[in-house]
Amino acid sequence: DRKKLIVGNWKMNGSLAANQDLLQAIRAGIADLDAAACTVALAVPAPYLAQVQALVAGSALALAAQDLSPHEAGAYTGEVSAAMLKDFGVRYALVGHSERRQYHGETDALVAKKVQRALAAGLTPIVCLGETLPEREAGQTEAVVRRQLAAVIQLNGHCISEVVLAYEPVWAIGTGRTASARQAQAVHAVLRAQLGAASSHAGRIRLLYGGSMNAANAAPLLAQPDIDGGLVGGAALKAPDFLQIIAAAC
Ligand code: 13P
Repeated sequence: DRKKLIVGNWKMNGSLAANQDLLQAIRAGIADLDAAACTVALAVPAPYLAQVQALVAGSALALAAQDLSPHEAGAYTGEVSAAMLKDFGVRYALVGHSERRQYHGETDALVAKKVQRALAAGLTPIVCLGETLPEREAGQTEAVVRRQLAAVIQLNGHCISEVVLAYEPVWAIGTGRTASARQAQAVHAVLRAQLGAASSHAGRIRLLYGGSMNAANAAPLLAQPDIDGGLVGGAALKAPDFLQIIAAAC
């Protein structure tokens, strides 16, 4: 029913030379990937979109962006528009990653605008949400993710089923401390139920887990009923690790 989706988020890493090596190894490793069983995408830094577009051509790999502007076009220095991303064959755009929320002050309202902008341009937004450690310890996990999801659930003219969600507990990102399969599934079930109250298509919406996903923990996480894929940071920069995560999904 729900096709698994694995997304590598390179964050602010890479170089022309390193990207070439990494892509060569990933392409060799997925040569006989069953594209019907799963989708694999790479969220690369904007300056490398053209390079990576060429390197993934003819493969099963899809291209993703790490962010996009909430504006359509014009005097917004430094921003990258949805239309520009489309120009380079981008299919998915991360929106509201916790690093954007934390270091760039992105609010739920801004995240909602970016989601609308992505959908209007025909990009699939991957909306990231998740609680911080103090929030989890204060028992606020459910309230926080429900608030973050509520902000994007009303989409003018679009259906929430066009969106992918990524649950990324902030305390698990880059820390080597993964949410257990049980902890992650519990939050995914909350999100699925909230989606169910808003849309008759909730069963079609993919919910990814992110936060120190690696070759060893991917399989048990991906075996959970409401975990439909992964958003992978550090392990996506090492071809053998990323390939093992893909193998666990496909
Ligand atoms: P890590 O896999 O490095 O913890 O990063 C997760 C993440 O933030 C992916 O978007």
